[in-house]
Amino acid sequence: MRPHVNLIRGLRFRLTVSYLLLFSALLVVIGLYFRHNLQVQTEGDVRAVLEEVWGEAKGYLKIENYRPNWIADQTDPEDAHIVDRLRYVILLTDANGNILLDSPVYESIGIDSPAEIRRILALKEPEVHIRTDAAGTPYMIKAGVMPDDHGQRYFFAIGRPLSDSEHTVKTFTTDYFLSLLAIIPLTGLLGWALAGRAIQPVNEVAQAAQKVTGSNLSLQIPLRGSGDELDHLIGSFNRMTTRLEDSFEQIRRFSTDVSHELRTPLTAIRGQLEVALFTAQTVEQYRDAMVNALEDVEQLSSIVRALLLLSQAESGQVVLQKTILDLGEVAEDVVDQFQIPAEEKQVRLTARIEPGVLISADRTQMERLFSNLLSNAVKYTPAGGTVQVRVKLEASQRDEKKNWGRIEIEDTGVGIPEENLPHIFDRFYRVRNAETNLIQGLGLGLSFVAWIVKAHGGQIDVTSTAGAGTRFTVRLPAEATAVAPMNEEHPAAVEPQRL
Ligand code: ADP
Repeated sequence: MRPHVNLIRGLRFRLTVSYLLLFSALLVVIGLYFRHNLQVQTEGDVRAVLEEVWGEAKGYLKIENYRPNWIADQTDPEDAHIVDRLRYVILLTDANGNILLDSPVYESIGIDSPAEIRRILALKEPEVHIRTDAAGTPYMIKAGVMPDDHGQRYFFAIGRPLSDSEHTVKTFTTDYFLSLLAIIPLTGLLGWALAGRAIQPVNEVAQAAQKVTGSNLSLQIPLRGSGDELDHLIGSFNRMTTRLEDSFEQIRRFSTDVSHELRTPLTAIRGQLEVALFTAQTVEQYRDAMVNALEDVEQLSSIVRALLLLSQAESGQVVLQKTILDLGEVAEDVVDQFQIPAEEKQVRLTARIEPGVLISADRTQMERLFSNLLSNAVKYTPAGGTVQVRVKLEASQRDEKKNWGRIEIEDTGVGIPEENLPHIFDRFYRVRNAETNLIQGLGLGLSFVAWIVKAHGGQIDVTSTAGAGTRFTVRLPAEATAVAPMNEEHPAAVEPQRL
């Protein structure tokens, strides 16, 4: 199904309109430019003719005591033609504006006023201007001084019609702009077709994208192979759906895990209650059933608490209560708590702790960090293995004044395959293979650890070899008041290893 697109706001329409506007504006500008050029050129031609007749007039017209005479051979047709041409638009007056010679055309244009005549006579060079006659025909007039042989100055004006020039410009203008009326709609249609072609692939991509739904996120839009922006967009889109698919998959797996995790204690509680209800007779039997049920309720609560805490932490609702802590002390407390579970699993748990590594941190979160990492280490290490906890001060490589409180938790457990390593801090992510399948967990512990480290401005790294063991290294900013790092080789500096 093709999505409804508002025509006016649609890309195709806007592309066509922009193209059309630009193209029309360009054609109009070109037209006006050529029109101007044509006008300048045709007027230039008339001006050249005017120069010519001005020169001829000086040769053919002689003034003798206020009387103009044409010096031409009347029998020579060429001379007669020249004189006729000269007399077509002509005016000769004395300095006071008294007409000595004129033509009907010049009268129609309008005889110059005495003031105008005096102004022209005062000029050094003749003046050229354009004037129109009563019928609206434009003429180019050249007016200036014409002296006679005795030095007497007369006003002389001669002109040529500009109608031909004007006609040429007018014809060009009408023809050009009329043809635009046809060209512009045609280019509009062409633009519409071209824009349609250009955005056709976008429509195809949109149609393909429509088919991608929550249940078939694996669907990929095929690349067009042109390596253009659209291919880039399709690539990004496909990567996005792959990421979405991963997230959907994680959530699906998580729901299954949560149901499983919750079902186990719930089934147990139900069993305990049934025992109490149907078979228990003595107070002890009732009490045993209740105690067992309570333990399972406790397990249920801890799962729910973990989920709630993580979502609160990730949505920024957990406020850190920072105090200055001795990192070693926190580590020791948690290691102590894990001695019994480790012993039960026959895992050797040792600690090598440097005293006086002070950090500013939230104690509860630090305990949570240690216990999550330690519980994983013990959980994923088979009987006979070891888990080592190390805490020490480490100088920052980048900034001499800065120190890190460094925590290392290393085990000889099942390890993490390389391909799973980049994901282990993701929420709900669990490695699924023969070694880990029977080990229970929600995949939330390390997301929590990562959040705690980040919230304290630290870093976490992991190195692991499948089948050999794993080492988590956490660095947290140490307080400036921390004592100088002690030399590890110095026996007194290191606390005895503890079992
Ligand atoms: P879980 O509840 O599954 O332990 P975590 O977030 O704590 O979840 O850990 C994510 C995954 O990382 C685990 O499922 C496990 O496969 C792997 N993992 C974490 N710590 C270790 C470890 N010390 N040794 C081996 N695998 C580990």
